Amino acid sequence: MDTRDHAATATASLPETTGRPRREAFLPFALPHITQAEIDEVVDSMRSGWITGGPKTKRFEREFADVVGAPHAIALSSATAALHLALVALGVGPGDEVIVPVYTFSATASVVIHCGARPVFVDVDPVTNNIDPARAEAAITPRTKVIMVVHFAGLPADMDPILAIARRHHLPIVEDAAHAFPARYDGRMVGNIGDITCFSFYATKTLATGDGGMLTTANAEYAQRVALMALHGMNRDAWKRYTAEGSWYYEILDAGFKYNMTDVAASMGLHQLARREWLLGRRRAIAARYTSAFAGMPELETPPDPKYADHAWHLYALRIRPERLTIGRDECIKRLSEARIGTSVHFIPLHLFPLYRDRYELKADDFPVAMGSYAREISLPIYPGMSDDDVEDVVAAVTDVVAAHRR
Ligand SMILES: *Cc1c(COP(=O)(O)O)cnc(C)c1O
Repeated sequence: MDTRDHAATATASLPETTGRPRREAFLPFALPHITQAEIDEVVDSMRSGWITGGPKTKRFEREFADVVGAPHAIALSSATAALHLALVALGVGPGDEVIVPVYTFSATASVVIHCGARPVFVDVDPVTNNIDPARAEAAITPRTKVIMVVHFAGLPADMDPILAIARRHHLPIVEDAAHAFPARYDGRMVGNIGDITCFSFYATKTLATGDGGMLTTANAEYAQRVALMALHGMNRDAWKRYTAEGSWYYEILDAGFKYNMTDVAASMGLHQLARREWLLGRRRAIAARYTSAFAGMPELETPPDPKYADHAWHLYALRIRPERLTIGRDECIKRLSEARIGTSVHFIPLHLFPLYRDRYELKADDFPVAMGSYAREISLPIYPGMSDDDVEDVVAAVTDVVAAHRR
């Protein structure tokens, strides 16, 4: 008897299908959580005349800095802008290398190219999909300037070994925390761990302002450089120029970018920041329900939730075990879509894209762990606006797809 027969025996008692009727309306994969408070605050900004970066952006920066325990927070137009400015502040330029996990969104690596430097990809940990510290250290060369860390799905990377490597090699760490607000590593909020941390407030993220981002750091020089380069390389905030105490005069000190946040976006951010514990509690409850429903199914691998961290649960990254199913990931997604459940895949490993593949001559099997995760991953809907019924619809749809296609 081979192992497959064992599996069949062990799962013989599982229910075949749930019998739950198919839902009528399509359940979107992600939705922002907007209340009347955000709407009123946005309207207030519009009526006030301050629609670009102004007093609410400043307040959002201060309150965000307090929440994550960072001395400096700079609100920006996106996490991509934050990642770019992080590398600019660290002086990354032509000839430099930046270590980047291959299992991430393209922005983590494209900003390295914007600086004229080269992203050096490393494979990830098979359980967490976060950067593999040993592989990161092995990738260090005399040209390495920065190590980038991505907190996949909102689960903080195991930072102690990474911080030890950074110290040993005198390298700064930039954290792509686009998924990781609010999250804790070993009791510390993400945002005051590495040298610079970058958050995203894109429409699908755990705090959503349409588009937006935040850069946090404990280093006053980096903060000053980022603030300068975020607004034309100008030596004073534009908004101060138009207030009573402002003056028309300014200097341009560098060829800066236009990466500031607007008060319209900050209006949304302020209220979601205040609601963060409730929002997280809702995502946590959905994750717990999914895990309790799927943990007993040998065809599925539920996402890790290790003791060392508090997960932000931006994504519920389920993985299938294709050897136990008669259909693959793509077919599962099609069946879930037929059951009116929206899903997504995180991530297509960067070395598969023509840009990175051709420019750095990478092969598909250069990063086997990332490829294994990619082939098996399905991101399920997980957002505070989902009703308990929506959550049960997802549980039933996944259970039924597995039941109909188990080997
Ligand atoms: C969303 C995301 C980004 C980009 O964020 P923007 O705010 O849209 O620029 C960067 N990295 C990761 C891992 C992301 O998921």
